[in-house]
Amino acid sequence: MSALPQERRLITAIPGPKSQELQARRSAAVAAGVGSVLPVFAARADGGIIEDVDGNRLIDFGSGIAVTGVGASAEAVVRRASAQLADFTHTCFMVTPYEGYVAVAEALAELTPGDHAKKSALFNSGAEAVENAVKIARIHTKRQAVVVFDHGYHGRTNLTMALTSKNMPYKQGFGPFAPEVYRMPMAYGYRWPTGPENCGPEAAAQAIDQISKQVGADNVAAIVIEPLLGEGGFIEPAKGFLPALSEFARDNGIVFVADEIQSGFCRTGQWFACEDEGIVPDLITTAKGIAGGLPLAAVTGRAEIMDAAHAGGLGGTYGGNPVACAGALGSIETMKELDLAARARHIETVMKARLGAMQEKYEIIGDVRGRGAMMAIELVKDPTTKEPNPEATAALAKACHQEGLLVLTCGTYGNVLRFLPPMVIGEELLNEGLDILEQAFTRI
Ligand SMILES: *Cc1c(COP(=O)(O)O)cnc(C)c1O
Repeated sequence: MSALPQERRLITAIPGPKSQELQARRSAAVAAGVGSVLPVFAARADGGIIEDVDGNRLIDFGSGIAVTGVGASAEAVVRRASAQLADFTHTCFMVTPYEGYVAVAEALAELTPGDHAKKSALFNSGAEAVENAVKIARIHTKRQAVVVFDHGYHGRTNLTMALTSKNMPYKQGFGPFAPEVYRMPMAYGYRWPTGPENCGPEAAAQAIDQISKQVGADNVAAIVIEPLLGEGGFIEPAKGFLPALSEFARDNGIVFVADEIQSGFCRTGQWFACEDEGIVPDLITTAKGIAGGLPLAAVTGRAEIMDAAHAGGLGGTYGGNPVACAGALGSIETMKELDLAARARHIETVMKARLGAMQEKYEIIGDVRGRGAMMAIELVKDPTTKEPNPEATAALAKACHQEGLLVLTCGTYGNVLRFLPPMVIGEELLNEGLDILEQAFTRI
């Protein structure tokens, strides 16, 4: 199915000479604040493989941060986006509309949880979607406060920096931040003082008490939460936490916003991660996996909330660009045709078994968690103290990179290795990637 051979191949050191040349040009021309996980320059990518400019082929356990779940050059995405490019690149939906935008909004209404009437607005990036969800929640409720959670990540714009929990590297030196943002405890089972079994209800009770006492439920426009945390360390909010918060929101006229920018679009084995506990969010933000790599984001939700903003209050020059919309329709078509949600569940089965076996052998693996093709291991210095081990995490990532396996780290303490393979990755590459990871443990 893939034009690019689905085989790992190392013909130079990583990074190779051509990548190093480009890295020198990059250092001179690109702002230092824009980092890269691995200074290997891409030439082609598809399926589970990224081919670099030196001809090395790396196994991709990153999907460009959970974006290319359908592969980085999926046939239907390329076909539809190319056809749209030839027809027209842009008119601006706010000037002269086009069908692709409407078709994406229709698809989002069909795919997102709940059978109520839904509407969408399209944007360019995840951060922009989150900002707009807050705008919509504020104008709908006529309230200002926004509640977010420890370890949450929502983007790099001014408002979304304020919503994001982690200071370094996202916020350090970039303040002042937007006001009326309140952060509550997260139901982080692995690190909850009274244990994971009690975590969901206890954390929910704490959060609800703090919201009521410190902010006042009547002042809260929105509760914004990732149903499965991304950058914060692939934390699965302990069972019961999300339902309790969603119920609290409903009882108090608060807009419940699920930020599914990383967890959405089949990644966790369902179309959206919040389906796992039967949550029906009022608004849902999507981006990353939506369009097979083209820049697109959306806010989707209850029609009466989405319609609260006056005409001209929402939008943007490029929001819902026609080529990106065509890409999204191709990506959604691929997810349905190949049943990538089922594929993600299969990846979970394979990974959980292998990572679980590694945990038995290597006691620095404190926790194995995640769902679908969104799995992670949390590394600690000692399984009883659970002291975070960012050094081992960085060393493991580096060892994997040198062997041609692209893995990413994350977590508030920088001690989580996360695995986000494209859902279309072949069985052999998936296992080979896990072999490389296992060898990396023996090497560090
Ligand atoms: C990546 C991400 C964002 C920000 O998306 P951008 O497209 O990078 O602006 C917001 N929320 C979550 C959960 C994310 O993973």
